[in-house]
Amino acid sequence: MPATLPHSTVERAVAIRREIHRHPELGFEETNTQAIVERELDAIGVEHRRIATTGVVGIVRGAQPGHVTGLRADMDALPILEDSGEECASQIAGKMHACGHDSHTAMLLGAARVLQESRESFHGTAVLLFQPAEEGPGGALPMIEQGALDDPRVEAVAMLHIDPRLPTGSIGITPGPVNAAADEFHITIRGKGGHGAQPHKAVDVIPCAAATILALQNVVARETDPLASIVVTIGTIEAGYRNNVIADKAFLTGTLRTHDPAIREAAPEKIRRIVDNIAAAYGATAEVKMLLGYPPVVNDAELAQSFAAYARENGFPVERPAPTMGGEDFAYFAQRVPGVLVRLGIYNEAVGSIHSGHSPQFRLDEGAIPTGIATLVAFARGVGDGSVPIRT
Ligand SMILES: [Zn+2]
Ligand SMILES: [Zn+2]
Repeated sequence: MPATLPHSTVERAVAIRREIHRHPELGFEETNTQAIVERELDAIGVEHRRIATTGVVGIVRGAQPGHVTGLRADMDALPILEDSGEECASQIAGKMHACGHDSHTAMLLGAARVLQESRESFHGTAVLLFQPAEEGPGGALPMIEQGALDDPRVEAVAMLHIDPRLPTGSIGITPGPVNAAADEFHITIRGKGGHGAQPHKAVDVIPCAAATILALQNVVARETDPLASIVVTIGTIEAGYRNNVIADKAFLTGTLRTHDPAIREAAPEKIRRIVDNIAAAYGATAEVKMLLGYPPVVNDAELAQSFAAYARENGFPVERPAPTMGGEDFAYFAQRVPGVLVRLGIYNEAVGSIHSGHSPQFRLDEGAIPTGIATLVAFARGVGDGSVPIRT
């Protein structure tokens, strides 16, 4: 285990986590959470400013020279009715911290306390990035646009995300892509309506839509490297009026998930080519609209490897979990500066911390909180004093 934290620091973080858990707030409505963050930063004497409506940037300035790290915690909850049975369960019906962001915020406040109390020996500066609206519409980009990484200039950034795939006490660091890009697409197919008994006088969009859906799987099965990750899912289809009328219009929506930015970039053209040409083959016309979501989170390979080695040396059990196809807007921070998404193990059957995030039964093992605080502190200290090198 890493060096132990003061008992009072852990206790305080647990209390803050429970306080935030009872009052979950959705994206860009995190005013109570923002006030808690400001209250706690004031209590330990850390300077801070508001950003991106309900976000906060705090700065811990070490007395020793060193690098500037960013530590990011998301603050928002989900529109879920909590059914966890936890003592500190949500007191707001239909809202729940089911993704652990309450603990992310509390652990960053814990790390801020540790760094602030040790600032005489702390090399460098830690920029605390308390971010709203990760679950949507996204708070990372407005924070960056409003200068969160600029003053002082952040040189490397890290975040924690709880992960029930890993046991409590461990962390997960995987170089390269770790979360997927989640893009959306809309397809409109237009034909010519008519009598169900006279198909030759119409252009029927129903068989055209069916052929389009099947052909789109070619993007996955025949046009993408089988070792790469890609998902093309058609989630909805709307068409038709009644059994004996030929439909003149079909509307389909789908999601495109990818890890590799090059594969993501190439996919819309492939989707368009297939949709347009299948439509042409059926005598119809089609339109594809792409709606870009969060980009993939790509962990900086060198930084991830060197931080994993440093964490192991300091007694952390470090695993290398598989990437997921979920989305995460930390991606925008990691596009600007070398970044690492660190997964924090919370799996613990003894306290019922076994459910996946976004589940109404989700429970968080608070026994993971000391490991999380210590991980953030280790990143700030390791990168700060140059033990964990960063590319310049
Ligand atoms: Zn989530
Ligand atoms: Zn989350």
